[in-house]
Formats: sequence, C-alpha cells, structure tokens
Amino acid sequence: MERLRRLLLQENIPHEIDCPLSRHASFRIGGTSDLAVFPQSREQLLRVLCAVLETSVRYAVIGNASNVVFPDGAFHGVVIFTCGYKEITLSGSRIQASAGVSLLSLARTACDAALSGLEFAYGIPGTLGGAILMNAGAYGGEISSVCVESEFFDAESGKISSFAGDSHEFGYRTSIYEKHPRYTILGATLQLSPDDRDAVRLRMEDYIARRRSKQPLDFPSAGSVFKRPEGHFAGKLIEDCGLKGFSIGGAQVSEKHAGFIINRGGATAADVRALVEFIRERVFITFGIELVCEIKFI
Ligand SMILES: Cc1cc2nc3c(=O)[nH]c(=O)nc-3n(C[C@H](O)[C@H](O)[C@H](O)COP(=O)(O)OP(=O)(O)OC[C@H]3O[C@@H](n4cnc5c(N)ncnc54)[C@H](O)[C@@H]3O)c2cc1C
Repeated sequence: MERLRRLLLQENIPHEIDCPLSRHASFRIGGTSDLAVFPQSREQLLRVLCAVLETSVRYAVIGNASNVVFPDGAFHGVVIFTCGYKEITLSGSRIQASAGVSLLSLARTACDAALSGLEFAYGIPGTLGGAILMNAGAYGGEISSVCVESEFFDAESGKISSFAGDSHEFGYRTSIYEKHPRYTILGATLQLSPDDRDAVRLRMEDYIARRRSKQPLDFPSAGSVFKRPEGHFAGKLIEDCGLKGFSIGGAQVSEKHAGFIINRGGATAADVRALVEFIRERVFITFGIELVCEIKFI
C-alpha cells in the first residue's frame, strides 16, 4: 500500500486515505476504505490499475456509486472511482466516451448534437462504465441498444481488450462484465440516430418529470433494489405485501415507490441487507416469486 501511495503522490493522482465511502455513495452508507483513488485520465486510471496489480492489493472499481452498498466496516483495500475520468468525442452520429462520463452529460451531449438513443439515461445518476456493466435502462431504452463497442483492462493478463456487438452478452440488467470482475471498463462507443433536437429534449424532460413524480429522490437510495420479475413489477409485489413504509434501522421501504429502499438517516449496510432479505422472504411466501437483487453489496 505504501508503494502505491508513493506512486500516487509522484504522479499527482488524486487520492484520499481513510476515505469515508458514505460521502461518495448515493445511499450515503459505508465505512472507510484504506485508500480511495480518483484518476482523472486514461493514463492515470491505467497507472493505478497496473500498480494495484503489482502490489496484489484488494481493490474495487466504482463509477459513481449509485448502485452499490458499501460495507459498514473498514474496507481494507483500494476503491478506484472512475467518475473523474471524463472524456467525450463526437463523430457523426457516434459518441466515444470514457467510463467515468456521467449518463447525464452523455444524454445532454447527444441532445445538443440532435442525436436520439440516450434519452432514457437522462436522470440515471451513474457513469457509462456502471451503466454498461449493469445494462442500465429505463422507459424502454437500455445502454445495450446503443453500445457498439467497449474497451476494458484485464487485470489477469494486464492487457487492454474490447468487446463488440453481441459479444457483450447484454441481458436484462446484466452484461458479460458481470462474469468478469477483473475487467475494468475503460470506455465505449455508442451509435445514436439523428433526430429532431427539440423532440429529443422533450422526451428527456418527460422522463425526468416522471422520475420526479414517482421516485423518492429526496432521500438517499441506490434506485430500484430488485430486478423486475417476468410479468410483474417488484414495487407492486412489495406494496401488495403491505411493506410500504416498513423499516429496519434507518433503512425503509419507500412510501412513494415500494421498489426503492431509502436511507431515512443513519441506515447501515446491515440494515439494508436485513430489509432486502425480509422483503424477499415476504414476497416469496405471499406470491411464490423470488426477487433478485439489482443493487450490489461491495
Ligand atoms: C435515484 C436513482 C435512480 C436510478 N434509476 C435507474 C434506472 O432508471 N435504471 C437503471 O438501470 N439504474 C438506475 N439506478 C441505478 C444506477 O444509477 C445505475 O445502475 C447506474 O448505471 C450505475 O452506475 P454507477 O457508475 O453509479 O455504478 P456503481 O454503482 O459505481 O457500480 C455498479 C457496479 O458496476 C461496477 N463498475 C462501475 N464502473 C465500472 C467500470 N468502469 N468497470 C468495471 N466495473 C464497473 C461496480 O464495481 C459495481 O459492481 C438508479 C439509481 C438511483 C440512486
């Protein structure tokens, strides 16, 4: 770890020792990590990944921490946040972007260029890297429908490689990257379609208005907790079990949208985990349906 710190200081790579992870997570949950690193460029990200490999230190790669629950105790290792690595290049109807670019800026860039395909992403508080890993989606759109290629660093071989088209194995809230925890997504190419700028903007405004009216955006959360079971909506099943407003510790099933768990103040990862298990059990007993968690416990 000392060697790694020396490198970060030498190369001027932003980092923090004993970093309170809760400060960086949309859920506002988490203990400290021995080290958190915030690379600002491709070179810095690769330097950090190679150094971590050489030192065999435990690490996690995180985008904007909007779909994760960090552990309550100390994380003895390095958390690498990609959200400072933000590069976007537009060429015709293609956008090439780095992993740390926010979905918000991607959607805005596309709209400014009168390109359609990313309207759904406006309002999802994650990065491109996190969106590809999860195949993020909303309102009938998904990152899989625009992502034509993605580049990654393989921590096993130490090499950079890429996936194109079907080799991403995109599915509902999943991609090939879920099978390869040692792959770090560096960036991707997105293929969009020309459209009327005002029409694109109106769709984006409509989606964000729907989010504001239906989602508990005034409280910290990690978005929808469960994947949508086939033929059902997780929120409706949870609501029908009478669990709206039910809480364990500081974690509560949102009164506004039962598919969300919110942090009412002081929630811990243990509270969220216990509430998730309680909900799964109740839904299974009542409807015989097994809910699958969408959020990731780190
Ligand atoms: C209010 C709210 C609303 C939301 N609405 C939606 C929605 O409509 N649709 C939806 O799909 N999601 C939604 N989410 C969840 C979340 O924003 C998305 O899943 C988002 O794509 C996660 O991106 P992130 O950068 O925050 O990923 P993180 O939370 O940082 O990470 C998620 C996972 O991806 C991995 N990861 C991140 N970056 C990389 C990388 N570069 N290389 C390899 N692995 C990486 C992490 O290790 C982790 O396993 C919502 C969340 C909130 C809080």
